[in-house]
Amino acid sequence: MNVVIMGPPGAGKGTQAKRLADRFGFLHLSPGDLLRQAVKDGTELGAKAKTYMDSGRLVPDRLIIELIGNRIREAQPDRRVVFDGFPRTLPQADALGVMLADLGQGLDAAVNVVLPDEEAIRRLTGRRVCRKCGANYHLAFKAPAKEGLCDLCGGPLYQRTDDSEATAKARFEVYRRETEPLIGYYGTRKLVQEVDGRGDVEEVSRRLEQALGLPG
Ligand code: AMP
Repeated sequence: MNVVIMGPPGAGKGTQAKRLADRFGFLHLSPGDLLRQAVKDGTELGAKAKTYMDSGRLVPDRLIIELIGNRIREAQPDRRVVFDGFPRTLPQADALGVMLADLGQGLDAAVNVVLPDEEAIRRLTGRRVCRKCGANYHLAFKAPAKEGLCDLCGGPLYQRTDDSEATAKARFEVYRRETEPLIGYYGTRKLVQEVDGRGDVEEVSRRLEQALGLPG
């Protein structure tokens, strides 16, 4: 089963994809996570991607398609895969179709997590991430027990450079222009499942799992 999770920045794509991985054994493929790791590791890809990421722009299609293509080909053929933040452009969507077809597979659903803009901006700017283990927090909705420290591993929390208000706005514009057209693209292929992204993590999870027909 191959599933794409779409939605504006801050819709909770990463959180929901991680839950699908934990609860149903999906392989979670997120170019954003892979690129942040590449930046941390100081690789050539990380160096190329950093300026785009810091300004809220998309990393060139060629780099992303290669990055994700390698992961798809390495995955076990019967593994469920959830794509989080990929595809984000029409050429990426075409490339995903070709890569899956080459493996004799297809896409089963493109979930569109719907969230009002103001709510998405609020979620983004309050988000904090653990530098050590990657766990997500929110200053208003999911504050850590000790300020600035991860509940799980004690690592320091930081704000992603691209979650500042100015960059978050730029990411929204990019989303509208480049990524939103994918709803139409997958709509004509009858793959879109709309999921209301409001409410807490568990509520959204329940809706998402129901939309995908996963056991509750
Ligand atoms: P995310 O963690 O999904 O919010 O992604 C963070 C940043 O990584 C984005 O703002 C882009 O700069 C880059 N990125 C992630 N996924 C893609 C993609 N599919 N295409 C191009 N750039 C991406």
